[in-house]
Amino acid sequence: MSKSDSTSAVGESGPVEDAGVVRGKPVVPGVVFAPATWVTARPELPEPTATVAEDQRDAEYEAFTEAVDTVAGRLTERAEQVEGHARQVLEATVVIARDRAWAKKVKKSVAAGQTNLYAVRQATDFFIDMFLKAGGVMAERVTDLADVRDRVIAELRGEPEPGIPQVTSPHVLLADDLAPADTATLDPSLIVAVVTEKGGATSHTAIIARQLDIPCVVATGRSLRNLSDGEQLLVDGGEGTVEPGVDPQDAARRVAEAAEYADKVRSWRGPAQTSDGQRVQLLANVQDGATAEQAAASVAEGIGLFRTELCFLSETEEPTVEQQAEKYAAVFRAFPEGKVVVRTLDAGSDKPVPFVNAEDEENPALGVRGLRIARGNSELLVRQLDGIAAALKLAGRTEPSAHTWVMAPMVATVYEAKWFAGLCHERGLTAGAMIEVPAAALMAEKMMSYLDFVSIGTNDLTQYTMAADRLSSSLAYLTDPWQPAVLHLVHTTCRAGSVTRTAVGVCGEAAADPLLACVLTGLGVNSLSAATPALAAVGAQLGDVDFVTCREMAAAALNAEGAEEARAAAAAVIGR
Ligand code: PEP
Ligand code: MG
Repeated sequence: MSKSDSTSAVGESGPVEDAGVVRGKPVVPGVVFAPATWVTARPELPEPTATVAEDQRDAEYEAFTEAVDTVAGRLTERAEQVEGHARQVLEATVVIARDRAWAKKVKKSVAAGQTNLYAVRQATDFFIDMFLKAGGVMAERVTDLADVRDRVIAELRGEPEPGIPQVTSPHVLLADDLAPADTATLDPSLIVAVVTEKGGATSHTAIIARQLDIPCVVATGRSLRNLSDGEQLLVDGGEGTVEPGVDPQDAARRVAEAAEYADKVRSWRGPAQTSDGQRVQLLANVQDGATAEQAAASVAEGIGLFRTELCFLSETEEPTVEQQAEKYAAVFRAFPEGKVVVRTLDAGSDKPVPFVNAEDEENPALGVRGLRIARGNSELLVRQLDGIAAALKLAGRTEPSAHTWVMAPMVATVYEAKWFAGLCHERGLTAGAMIEVPAAALMAEKMMSYLDFVSIGTNDLTQYTMAADRLSSSLAYLTDPWQPAVLHLVHTTCRAGSVTRTAVGVCGEAAADPLLACVLTGLGVNSLSAATPALAAVGAQLGDVDFVTCREMAAAALNAEGAEEARAAAAAVIGR
């Protein structure tokens, strides 16, 4: 057989379909059997019609403002019922609905005789075009703009609100992609699984599904469209499969097996270790006091990633050291004795913070983000470190250096690591760096001579290794942490950690995947940090394998040709 004959297209071709089974990216494990329901179709976009009579134009515009009030009111009401990321997403959608520049454009068109429906379409098209031209983060807001447009158009026509249908019994929700405002309000007792044609492991859909612990599969590709409303589906969120036509008895057996496993996960209490006692610290990713409290009530031993930039996403003025200290102390208080890893502001790219990222950038993911914001503005970083040091006192932490670790995002050079570590050590803080740029993984050993620990950010490490935007659903087959190239960089970092005796953690979404957690452990990672609801499944899985098996799984994954093959090879080691 020639080399080209032996090349399998499976791994790189993206999602595949066999015998009616739809496959996508597994995001949240769990098996359910329920009828499908597609998201309510977006309304037909209005076309221009005859001119509205002059004496009706005021009423025409007033109907628009009333529709906006109703839509914004509904979203606000939902925002008040949820917390954390879901709340932020809904509040951001309300801000778009209430945008003055958008309303002004609608008003102008209506004053010129357009119907309010067509004026809404025109005004939104104008901003969509502008945002797409701006690119980067702005372009990512286009889904939100279109979502608000569709809600207002449906309201003006008296049609049902587009998005999630109002079901009264458990259903599997199918969608091409979900608008952030939709995912934020999912009711897990009625929507028992979510499957989307688009989306990646770090998309809004995935993050919210993980928070709500709803079995979820994303990036199935167009094959999902073969499934219709009402069709009974067996969804396996751990395998990333959606099967129609399964015999109900067979489905019931598989659901029962999965439920038994879920019970085992639920009753798992930690601490995390392999079956032969190799310890792995299991930590939580949080963004504020509330999510830290949630982690403290779970199996988490501490916090492995406190994303401080998420505390300040809407601040136009830099909070004072005291104001920052209050925010950070709320997180420290949740774990009075436990480890807390604080990450300094990772502002920029998909998380612009108004008081930090003033300039528009051509290519923000490769721009001034993370530690780079401190390059021309070291006072900003110094004030944040002072805020962290002050928070320790507020929270009454007695042994700061043992349990309070501080790390910088987007470190790319040894010089940056050394500079950051110096600033932390002057304040008695344990210093670390995120390894999320391939250059940092390759230079990890040298960086470690200045650092006390490192934490691998697999979301960005994958994005930058594969040169694929982590937000792009069409590139989800590349932005997969199972990509062997990414695993090789993790391996390089772990080897450096073992030579220099430096702790190596993982705090990207990869740590939430139980099978990948075994591989990471086998590669030499000693702490895993993920969204709180994902932790028990990771701990339970680790307890089922011994360390030698983890190493075999790691070797099998490193040796694979592609992401799907790596996952399959690791699974095969434990007979799956
Ligand atoms: C990562 O990149 O893996 C990470 C944990 O950071 P964030 O997702 O906040 O960019
Ligand atoms: Mg990152």
